Amino acid sequence: MNITEKIRTAHDLCLKWGAELKSDPLISSQLRELSARTEASRLASLRSGVADACRRCDENEGGSCCGAGIEDRYTPELLLINLIVGIELPESRYSEDSCLFLHSRGCILPVRDILCINYLCSKLQKEIPHGNLLSLQDATGREMDAVFVLHNTIRNFIKKLTA
Ligand code: SF4
Ligand code: SF4
Repeated sequence: MNITEKIRTAHDLCLKWGAELKSDPLISSQLRELSARTEASRLASLRSGVADACRRCDENEGGSCCGAGIEDRYTPELLLINLIVGIELPESRYSEDSCLFLHSRGCILPVRDILCINYLCSKLQKEIPHGNLLSLQDATGREMDAVFVLHNTIRNFIKKLTA
């Protein structure tokens, strides 16, 4: 499936099962947990200096690492989770060379693939103090675990509904 087909599938799933998914207590609690962990990652990124370094890189070196093609890593279920939390998925690219989900103020997805959560370029790995990177990786590891758990729950839930 290409990304257009995956987005279409995510919309179809949301239309069909969105209400059931949103009202399921396990999914609701996993969504809350993921949201808390994503916020903790965001704060760790600010504290570590990574968020600031990426902002400077973006502004001064045009250096976003969110290249075209990374959107292909996204599954319909991961896109569905983003729809459930109220995100509108784009139909066209903001910039030809960039990931479909990158827009003028950065990534539009609150629920991201592990590559996007985890990525640190070599420049950051050299520049950011080791202790700061460890704290950040601790937070992003917890976020990735929560994405993994919720993704599996949604996949199994849909399998059961469609069995
Ligand atoms: S991860 Fe590296 S290349 Fe990507 S925006 Fe941050 S500093 Fe720039
Ligand atoms: S962080 Fe967002 S914009 Fe960047 S590659 Fe990942 S999905 Fe695309």
